[in-house]
Amino acid sequence: MTLLSLSQLTASYGATQALFGVDFEIAEGEALAMMGRNGMGKTTTVRCICRMMPAKGALVFDGHDLSRLPSHRAARLGIGLVPEGRRCFRDLSVTENLSAAARPGAWDAAKVEALFPRLGERRGQLAGSLSGGEQQMLAIGRALMTNPRLLILDEATEGLAPTVRAEIWAAIATLKASGMSMLVIDKSLKELRGACDRVVILERGRSVWDGTMSALSPDVVEAMLGL
Ligand code: ATP
Repeated sequence: MTLLSLSQLTASYGATQALFGVDFEIAEGEALAMMGRNGMGKTTTVRCICRMMPAKGALVFDGHDLSRLPSHRAARLGIGLVPEGRRCFRDLSVTENLSAAARPGAWDAAKVEALFPRLGERRGQLAGSLSGGEQQMLAIGRALMTNPRLLILDEATEGLAPTVRAEIWAAIATLKASGMSMLVIDKSLKELRGACDRVVILERGRSVWDGTMSALSPDVVEAMLGL
């Protein structure tokens, strides 16, 4: 079953158009990677899906037309966002950050701590005093606490040390194995190949390539991603 579907999505920042036609679908249980060079529209696409900015075109989640919904309603339908920049409440503890995000479902603080044991060790610590990697784990934990049907990770490993990146990719693999539907934005093709089923590539605000990870040939990677 199709969980999320975007068709001919366009969006602008004031007079500046950023998206010119983004199309892709995510099936239930599927992990889709979204790639593209800097400034190609990945974060803008995420903002449109999460209803943080207006968009034109078709935007359907689980049979609901998202295009008219405010952001809190999109979250309530089951879209969990881990935004760029690991936002959490710096003056609240790890546990308080998790419980502030909680909505009914299978995910609770114990399950998040099992996924990220470091968060369990730092339960009482203020989020602002955690390392960057731990804050990222907390941001993912907070999104999971909302019990999303679709988890969106926007540059979840950006700027982190290799060992912490590896922990986060391992957690993403665990989530994938558990059947979590995901949209994963990252620059690391090697890690995305292991974590995702398919990839969509954006160029100048348009989706220009969509296919399975195994169909992503070296010439497409070089021409569209410069890797
Ligand atoms: P990156 O990989 O660098 O995060 P991206 O693919 O996520 O890039 P976006 O951040 O979606 O790209 O940006 C798409 C276009 O929209 C760019 O031309 C960017 O300059 C522009 N843009 C992004 N945010 C804003 C904003 N708040 N106001 C005006 N223009 C913006």
